[in-house]
Amino acid sequence: MPSDIVQPPNPDERFCSRCGQPLGLREEGGRLRPACPGCGHIVFGRFSVGVGGLIIRRSRILLVQRAHDPGRGRWTLPGGYVEEDEAPHDAIVREVLEETALTVVPRALLALRHAQNAREQNLYLVFSLALRGPPSALRPDGREIADARWVRPDEVASLGAVGSISKWVIERLARRPGGFRIIPATQQPPPVLTHRWTALYAAPSSRTHHRTPLFRQKE
Ligand SMILES: [Zn+2]
Repeated sequence: MPSDIVQPPNPDERFCSRCGQPLGLREEGGRLRPACPGCGHIVFGRFSVGVGGLIIRRSRILLVQRAHDPGRGRWTLPGGYVEEDEAPHDAIVREVLEETALTVVPRALLALRHAQNAREQNLYLVFSLALRGPPSALRPDGREIADARWVRPDEVASLGAVGSISKWVIERLARRPGGFRIIPATQQPPPVLTHRWTALYAAPSSRTHHRTPLFRQKE
């Protein structure tokens, strides 16, 4: 039975990205989706993954000022987009280095926000980061960001335009940054056939986290 639910058409995606034929529509998973009659490729939607980093030093948080639109002049946590061939926690380390010249290591995943945009969905992951190099290395790159500052949480409001999710993270999470652990590759389940590699983040497994276990274990 054909579905009457049609995946929202994407004007950027009229031709198959694999073989170049014009896309048709095909039912898959209860929806009519753009699909290639030639090679069978199905378009499940467009996604992007962004990352942000919370770095706290002496009760101050690193904020950067965007140099370009959208949001030119706005202060945010440092960050950017995940490349197609990198893990999110590697992407934030790279972005912080590129934007500020600071060397950091990822500690935990603090928050995830899923946003629906006009032409894609975006998943934004916020990591807590630890400074590894000297703080004096801080140099705004002058391209992506115009300025960078260590700011006390109570000074954030006086900066002017501050990204709403950055502000939310600072207000809600900066005082108690717990978060999901970054699971080393050796402790992850083996990747399935289509995975080249995986990144895995998991809630802390401490006894204090849940009052009652999800599954009762045999004594
Ligand atoms: Zn095709």
